[in-house]
Amino acid sequence: MTVFTKIIKGELPSDKVLENDHFLAFHDINPKAPIHILIIPKEEVKDFQSVSGRLMSEMTLFMQEVAKLMGLDKSGYRLVVNNGKDSGQEVMHLHFHMMGGSKLIWPHLADTDTKNFF
Ligand code: AMP
Repeated sequence: MTVFTKIIKGELPSDKVLENDHFLAFHDINPKAPIHILIIPKEEVKDFQSVSGRLMSEMTLFMQEVAKLMGLDKSGYRLVVNNGKDSGQEVMHLHFHMMGGSKLIWPHLADTDTKNFF
């Protein structure tokens, strides 16, 4: 069982932002931006690669609602989803990182000559 399943079940605490029957949004414990929220489905889905279009379309509406609630729909935000080992995905339960609250840099590209990627 992942740490996020424990949060969904209420076995671990979380700083909740928004919840409905199918999705949960809560603050990341180790924020990388002034506002850093994790958005997860309650259904067990291990990563983005295996999520259904049906669930993703509902999740999109939920994420838009979270952005509005936090005022990020006006100021802007970044969505990040890590998928699999090369991305550094740590928790094997689908989650979107929603980050905002200041002008964001693009850290992993900022100092790197993109020629080195290929
Ligand atoms: P990822 O590397 O994409 O799998 O991201 C996992 C994220 O989960 C990291 O940003 C962690 O800081 C966050 N995280 C891990 N445990 C908790 C927790 N108990 N409550 C809130 N965020 C967590």
